[in-house]
Amino acid sequence: PGAEPAGICLACSYECHGTHRLFELYTKRNFRCDCGNSKFKNLQCKLLPEKGKVNSGNKYNDNFYGLYCTCKRPYPDPEDEIPDEMIQCIVCEDWFHGRHLGAVPPESGDFHEMVCQACMKHCHFLWAYAPQLAVPPLTKANSLEDERIVLKVEESEEQKKEIKKESGVEHHDTKEEKQLEQFNEPSTSSGSACPEVVTKNEEPVCKLKELQSKPFVKKDTATFWPSNWRSKLCTCEDCLKMYSELEVQFLTDECDTVLAYENKGTSDQETERRDPLMDTLNSMNRVQQVELICEYNDLKTELTDYLRRFADEGTVVKREDIQHFFEEFQSRKRRRTNRMQYYCS
Ligand SMILES: [Zn+2]
Ligand SMILES: [Zn+2]
Ligand SMILES: [Zn+2]
Ligand SMILES: [Zn+2]
Ligand SMILES: [Zn+2]
Repeated sequence: PGAEPAGICLACSYECHGTHRLFELYTKRNFRCDCGNSKFKNLQCKLLPEKGKVNSGNKYNDNFYGLYCTCKRPYPDPEDEIPDEMIQCIVCEDWFHGRHLGAVPPESGDFHEMVCQACMKHCHFLWAYAPQLAVPPLTKANSLEDERIVLKVEESEEQKKEIKKESGVEHHDTKEEKQLEQFNEPSTSSGSACPEVVTKNEEPVCKLKELQSKPFVKKDTATFWPSNWRSKLCTCEDCLKMYSELEVQFLTDECDTVLAYENKGTSDQETERRDPLMDTLNSMNRVQQVELICEYNDLKTELTDYLRRFADEGTVVKREDIQHFFEEFQSRKRRRTNRMQYYCS
């Protein structure tokens, strides 16, 4: 209390701040760990002792004091008895109560990302995209009639597809396309002529200007967006300039989403988990490989059997138990290898 706000990474939260009371902040883009820098007195980071005094790019908000939403309340809130989900705004990265967004959030499966009221004011251009992209579409007359029209369009497209399939036209089309692709292949890979033609054909059109010429509404509410909506935002020169002036360049970047971030984490973990064993195996000859795999399988079955006893008895596995297991395993292994040497000689 009373100190400057600071943010630390997950690794430092375990290594350097085990006894400190921390607020878990989830994702913050463009943020560097403050552990052990000038914000801390008498604390050195155990993982990276040498680091800059300040992280000038870091931005701090009320979340760093454990307060969230426009109502500036803690989470979980002991005084709040209304069950409500907290949703993170993808622009300011603050968390908001579903009931404090100025609009009722759609079912959580229906939308992918949310932009809060304040950030919709900041990113005013998003209102022009809302009638086409937002969930539900924000049009002037959100009446039943509109919905019926949308449904009709969807139906007729489906019907068209069915007709195509029945008459075999679609089949024919794809064949032709394939032939065309094959035909085009040599020319695309051989020269620089092709890209030039493409740029000549495509006149630079600003999607935003096009949308702004149509009617759209501005409200004082948060908005909700489906997956892949970011790639549909205009990336013309003028728009890119506007994004950077508003400091929201990340809005056109599909890799900036929490989903992309989490997927990256999972795939990184998978490669980390697999690599050491594969690297070791690759550096060995065949006999060594077989030995290693046998040994690994021995260890796996014995450890599983050992741990099953604890599970059956419902007792907690302690550090000593694991140490005991590996001591036993080592001595058994030694006995086995000794016996083998005896036979070999
Ligand atoms: Zn750290
Ligand atoms: Zn640290
Ligand atoms: Zn709130
Ligand atoms: Zn926001
Ligand atoms: Zn544009």
